[in-house]
Amino acid sequence: MASFHLTRLYREYENLFSPGIFICRRCNSPLYSAEAKFHSGCGWPSFDEEYPGSVERHVDMDGRRIEILCAHCHAHLGHVFEGEGFTEKDTRHCVNSLSIRFISEGKEMPPVLDAD
Ligand SMILES: [Zn+2]
Repeated sequence: MASFHLTRLYREYENLFSPGIFICRRCNSPLYSAEAKFHSGCGWPSFDEEYPGSVERHVDMDGRRIEILCAHCHAHLGHVFEGEGFTEKDTRHCVNSLSIRFISEGKEMPPVLDAD
């Protein structure tokens, strides 16, 4: 049962496509517009564009993949891949559902918390 629940949680946002904003789950900083979300089939929420300056990129430990972090609090978000041709921007932010929170359009945005 435990693994079933974990899978459900990981896939929480994969098939969510309604207007709104994805924010950092740790600091509430806006990261992605729902408009940038697309379905890649990878099982994780995918975005082709972040809000300007909201995401930092770092070369991963393995020296190949690019890790993405919240630029505000440096929480790990996932990885970014380029050149796959999924969308016009040719960029795929592969983001862990556990790192983000969805705020529906019209809902009040929670205040951005200070980075520690
Ligand atoms: Zn953050």
